[in-house]
Amino acid sequence: MALIILIAILGFGYFFGKPLWIKLRRQRIANQPFPKEWRQIIRKNVPYFNQMPADLQLQLKRHMLVFLAEKDFYGQDGLAMTDEIRVTIAAQACLLLLNRKTNYFEKLHSIYVLPTAFVANNPHVDALGVWHEQTRVLLGESWDIGKVILSWQHTQEGAADAEDGHNLIIHEFAHQLDQETGAANGAPRLSSKAQYQDWFNVMQRQFDRHKKAVARRLPTLLDYYGATNEAEFFAVASETFFERPADMHEQHKALYDQLKHYYKVDPLTWR
Ligand SMILES: [Zn+2]
Repeated sequence: MALIILIAILGFGYFFGKPLWIKLRRQRIANQPFPKEWRQIIRKNVPYFNQMPADLQLQLKRHMLVFLAEKDFYGQDGLAMTDEIRVTIAAQACLLLLNRKTNYFEKLHSIYVLPTAFVANNPHVDALGVWHEQTRVLLGESWDIGKVILSWQHTQEGAADAEDGHNLIIHEFAHQLDQETGAANGAPRLSSKAQYQDWFNVMQRQFDRHKKAVARRLPTLLDYYGATNEAEFFAVASETFFERPADMHEQHKALYDQLKHYYKVDPLTWR
């Protein structure tokens, strides 16, 4: 009888949201004490942490415990994996999860870290059936098949200056949020049709404005790379939102408000 009740409870959890046992496991992990050495790593490598309100610092640390327990990290090209690398990445990735329901980048399983920028071969066949060999130097790469590849050097550089608008981890993990819905089209998971409508209206207008400015070689707050496509625009805008909130609020208020609504935080008030 007890077994039937247990199965019923777990089944209920499974069909009405995340499986209950996952929720319980995450709760247990999040309640574990946060290692002192990890706190020192954050304070040293991730300066914006000190600017955040205390309740968000606590929330971030709880998310980090779960994130670090669930994701596998691999050092590549001779890089030995350390707590410093894992914690520095987790502290920035989990910034994107605060104040909202999260499934911890559900598609992502493995994080590969290389010492520095790397060369990627992305051969692909285009719509006309033509095979393209494409070789590019990358700082990071987000795949929708459960992996992210990162340069440790650029992870550190992105974190070190919290106000330059460049942050590799925010960029790549914004791609992960985008990819959770399937297509990487610059729209993460939203809760209603109306929200998608609103999102596309604002983002499309802002993306077009950015593309025009880039085409005319004007100085822009957002990195030129954001003009590549809608997915890159969302990733670049996320970097700017967290790292240069005052400038974004002043120059792209509609974009700032849209991201504030989505990320459920207001970095403008952190400084
Ligand atoms: Zn990108």
